[in-house]
Formats: sequence, C-alpha cells, structure tokens
Amino acid sequence: MKTSQKKPEKLIDEKDIRYDGRKLNEMRPVKIEVGVLANADGSAYIEQGKNRILAAVYGPREIHPKHQALPDRAALRCRYHMAPFSVQERKSPAPSRREHELSKVIREALEPSIFTEYYPRTAIDLFIEVLQADGGTRCAGITVASLALADAGIPMRDLVCACAAGKVEDRLILDLDDLEDKSEGADVPIAYMPNMDVVTLLQMDGMLTNEEFEQVLNMGIEGCRQISQLQRDALKAKYTAAKEAEAEKEDEAEEAKK
Ligand code: ADP
Repeated sequence: MKTSQKKPEKLIDEKDIRYDGRKLNEMRPVKIEVGVLANADGSAYIEQGKNRILAAVYGPREIHPKHQALPDRAALRCRYHMAPFSVQERKSPAPSRREHELSKVIREALEPSIFTEYYPRTAIDLFIEVLQADGGTRCAGITVASLALADAGIPMRDLVCACAAGKVEDRLILDLDDLEDKSEGADVPIAYMPNMDVVTLLQMDGMLTNEEFEQVLNMGIEGCRQISQLQRDALKAKYTAAKEAEAEKEDEAEEAKK
C-alpha cells in the first residue's frame, strides 16, 4: 500500500464527497491498541487511515544527564521520529528540523495533562515512532502518546486527544490526509483535554477567515471528542483482557488444587 498517490483532479466532488469516499466531517478509520510492547513501561499503537504510529514511555526514572533534572517536577522528554520507510521517498533516519520541532510541539501538548510535580528530578521519556505517514501524524502521535503515558501508570489530569481540521477546495473538512494537507487551503491541528475542556495545541497552516476559523476549530474539537471515546475504549479493552487473563489463571490454579 503506497502512502502517497497521484493527485486526483478534484479532492472533493460536487456532492461534497472526498476523493477517498469520506464526508466533509468524517474522520479516517481509527484503530488503537494499548500495551503493545513488552520492554517499555507503557506503550500504544494507532492506525489512522494509512498512518501507523507506535508510542513507548519509560519513567518516571532517574534522569541522565543529571543537569537536565528539574527541581520542582519531572522533565518530560519527547522524541518524534519518522522511520526511513515511513514515506514514499526514503527518509534519512537522522532527526530533521521538522522532527525536532514536532518533538517540542508534542511535548508541549502533553505536558499540561501530566502531574509532573509528583516526580521532581526525574525523567519521563516518550518515544513516538512513525512507521507509516499519511498526513496528521503530529495529532495521531499525540493521541497515541497520551495512551502510552496512561499505560505507564503516570498520574494524569486527563487524556489528550488530537485531530486536525482545515480547508480544501473551499470546503471545511475534518482529519486531512497527506494529499489534502498538501493541497492549497488550510490545516489546523488541535490537541484537546476533553474533561477539562482545554486546548493544548493549536496551530494553523494556510489562510482562513475568522468565521471559517471558528467553524474549523469546532469541527476539530468534535473530532477530538470522537478520538477521545476511542482512546477510552482502547484503555478499557486492555484492562478487560488483563482481568480475564487473571481470572483464567486463578481458575487454572483452582483446578490444579483439586
Ligand atoms: P503532520 O504529519 O502532522 O500533518 P506535516 O504537516 O509536517 O505534519 O506533514 C504532513 C505529511 O507530510 C506527513 O504526515 C507525511 O505524510 C508527509 N511528510 C512529512 N515529512 C516527509 C518527508 N520527509 N518525505 C515525504 N513525506 C513527508
């Protein structure tokens, strides 16, 4: 499956159906799994359309180098990285300027959700590995990273969910993919804490009128709420599975005693 393809003549038809069959306010199919890696303290995996992203968390743990320690809170360190095979043209594995910037942006979107003050002088290390990219990876990266933090048992005020909305061919749309992102218009990535009703990331690429911006923001937040439900379902699924495995083990132990 190629992530980039030839651009169709029109990305949205006269019936407001997008080139991939989606309605204007429809998100790409999302699949989320929590606790997918054995060797990290917390982990999660997301598929959003053709995006495939893994997140792993270590910590809170001793910080190295020591001079990075913060006296009043844990230092959240974040690395967003795209695998060389994540895009059609092989990408250098060395971190690019864009990856450095996204690492910072993602860290800032997640930090308000964490009780970092509980763990002064420690590090919480977060790794986001983009295995396949098709637009909107910063948002999907935030969504999956927040779950990995929760899976690591880090105390949080809320989960952070993220989704972009924007404008393509004069129509306002939700969850832009790579082709839509690269066409003329606007792209507004949003990260949101639904229980606290706080936006933790808001960026904009392109041009919108004030009215359009408000509509795009509302559409994006609605998308975030949908993502939030999927996050909760994925967390519950992990704990239901763990509980069932535990019960099965207890049953087996009972059987063995008989
Ligand atoms: P986001 O993934 O958050 O939308 P950008 O707007 O910077 O971030 O990038 C949009 C998309 O462009 C990415 O999701 C990815 O599909 C593509 N892309 C990013 N970097 C590269 C690259 N080095 N080569 C090819 N495509 C890339």
